[in-house]
Amino acid sequence: MFKCIRCGKCCVKTQMVLGPTDILRITKLGYKLKEFSVISKDGLLRLKNINDHCVFYNPNTRKCNIYRWRPKGCRIYPIVYFIEDNIITVDNECTMAHTVSEEYLIQVLPEMIYLLGELGIEVDLSGLRVLLRHRR
Ligand code: SF4
Ligand code: SF4
Repeated sequence: MFKCIRCGKCCVKTQMVLGPTDILRITKLGYKLKEFSVISKDGLLRLKNINDHCVFYNPNTRKCNIYRWRPKGCRIYPIVYFIEDNIITVDNECTMAHTVSEEYLIQVLPEMIYLLGELGIEVDLSGLRVLLRHRR
């Protein structure tokens, strides 16, 4: 179980990555790549921020303008992958992180592995740790 209250916190100063299928899905809506993405130092494409929030976030309605088409990483969140630690875990920054159950984390795992593959991130599966709680 995970109970998202759509507080919008994860849409503020977002660093969410974009995979090829995300880009295809969003550009099909009519958005140009440069309108909604930036290349970060690690070479990954990430969502662009405007006024400190995701370009697709509407601060008035506190809703995502492309909710049905939002990137896979946004769907998976607050499950995240910390590349330096090779850990899949729950991001403590999420307001409702405490509601993520072990079952939910396991349920989301295949989607996370798929996304990492799409991004070309090679995961050392033998050393991969999956933790419900992780302090950094
Ligand atoms: S921070 Fe967590 S609870 Fe708030 S909108 Fe994002 S995923 Fe949902
Ligand atoms: S695409 Fe939508 S859900 Fe994802 S960060 Fe932007 S506004 Fe939030």
